[in-house]
Amino acid sequence: MSNLNETHDKNLKSWVETANIKGSEFPIQNLPFGIFKSIGSKDIGQAGIRIGDQIVVLEKLLQCSVLRGKAEVAALKSRGGCLNPLMELGHDYWSELRKQVSDFLKYGSKPFTHSDVLIPIADVEMCMPAQIGDYTDFYSSINHATNVGKLFRPDNPLLPNYKHIPIAYHGRSSSIRVSGYATRRPIGQIKNADATEPVLSVCDKLDYETELGVFVGSVNDLGEIITLDQAEEHIFGCCILNDWSARDIQAWEYQPLGPFLAKNFATTISPWIITKEALIPYRCKSYKRPLADPKPLPYLNSRTHERLGGLDIDFEVSIRTEKMRKENIPAMVIGRPPFKDMYWTISQMLTHHTINGCNLRSGDFYGSGTISGSEKNQLGSLLEVTEGGKTDIVFPSGEKRKFLKDGDEVIMKAWCGGGDDLIKIGFGECRSIILSALEI
Ligand code: CA
Repeated sequence: MSNLNETHDKNLKSWVETANIKGSEFPIQNLPFGIFKSIGSKDIGQAGIRIGDQIVVLEKLLQCSVLRGKAEVAALKSRGGCLNPLMELGHDYWSELRKQVSDFLKYGSKPFTHSDVLIPIADVEMCMPAQIGDYTDFYSSINHATNVGKLFRPDNPLLPNYKHIPIAYHGRSSSIRVSGYATRRPIGQIKNADATEPVLSVCDKLDYETELGVFVGSVNDLGEIITLDQAEEHIFGCCILNDWSARDIQAWEYQPLGPFLAKNFATTISPWIITKEALIPYRCKSYKRPLADPKPLPYLNSRTHERLGGLDIDFEVSIRTEKMRKENIPAMVIGRPPFKDMYWTISQMLTHHTINGCNLRSGDFYGSGTISGSEKNQLGSLLEVTEGGKTDIVFPSGEKRKFLKDGDEVIMKAWCGGGDDLIKIGFGECRSIILSALEI
C-alpha cells in the first residue's frame, strides 16, 4: 500500500497561479490525467495533466526533455490518444511521472518555457481518457440497496447475499461518453402495472445514478487473483460516473438476469482521472459493520483494509431544467451522497472481480453503484428521492419532477477535503442534458 510523499505536501504551491486559489479543484496536489483536443478538431487527442485552469501537455514536456527515467517512459506511453498503455505500466511509473511533473510545476522551479508546455482549459474539449474494454457496475451502497429494495419488498429490502458478496452486473462500454455529451432519452419495451401487455414506448421514468468510476491500471493474467492487499496497486484512478437508468424499462426487463437495455443506452463520466495516489490523504476506515452483520469472508477482509480501505469523497448531484437556464436560475442540489458510507470498498470490488480468475485489462472500468447516505438529503438517485415516483421535487422555477424531463441537465460534482482543509482535490464535473427520444 502506497504512502504519503512530497507530492502530497499541503504547503506546495505552483507557479500556475490559478492552482493556488483557495478552493481550487486542481491544486498541485491533484494532477489528474486526461485526453484533450482543440475545440472542434478531428484529432485523436493527446494526454495532459490538469493544473488550475491549465493543462500540462505531456508531449511538450517530452520535447523539452523535462522528464527522465520511468517518468519519460510513462509519458511516451501516453501518446496515441488514450491512456491505456500508460495505465498498463504500473504504479512505479505513474508515481514517478506524478513526482517529476509536481517538481516541474512547483513554485520556485523556474521553468524555462512555461507558456510552451501549457494550454488553457478554455481552449480545448475533453475526450474519453481511455478505451474502456469491459465495464462492470457494482451495487455497493447498503443505503441505496435498502431504499430500492423497500420499494419492491417493504418487509425484506435486502436480499440474503448482500452483506456477503459485492453485487454487480456487466455493463456496456460502447455507450460511455465524457461530460458534456448530451443523453438521448431511450425508447424500450415497457409494461405498466395496470396493463396486461407490454408496448414499445418512450421512457417516461428516466433517472440518474450518482457513482464513483474506477479505472483499472496494471493487470492480472487469466486465472490469477488480485488479493485485497494488492488491489490498490492495480487501481489507476477514479472519476465521477452517471449511470443513466430507464426505470420503466428496467422494471419489466430486469428479472431474472438483471439490467440490460435500461442501462446500456448511455453512461456519462467526468473527463479527468483523479489518480489513486492523489487520493491517499483521503483514505479512511472501511464501513463499520454493526456487530450483527456477518464479517466479510477472509479474502475480502484484512486489518489494513479495515483501517484504510475506505475513501472520504463528497458527492453532489444537482438538476437544472431548461426553464431554469432560460431564467438564469442556478441548478438545484438534489443530494449530497458521502462515499465513505459505502458498504463495500473499491479494493473489495476489484478483488472480488478476480476471485474466480477473471482477468482485468488496463483501462477496464467499474462503477461503485449508486452512492446514497442515510439521510434524505444524501440520496444518489431520483428513484430514492421521489420514492419511486410517489412524491415530487419542486424547483425554484415552480416546475415539478418525479423523473427527468427533456432539456433537464444533471450535474454531478465530487471532491475530497476543502472547507477548512488547506487542500481540495476536485474531480471536476460530470454533466449532460437530456435530449428528446427518437421517433418510434
Ligand atoms: Ca448503477
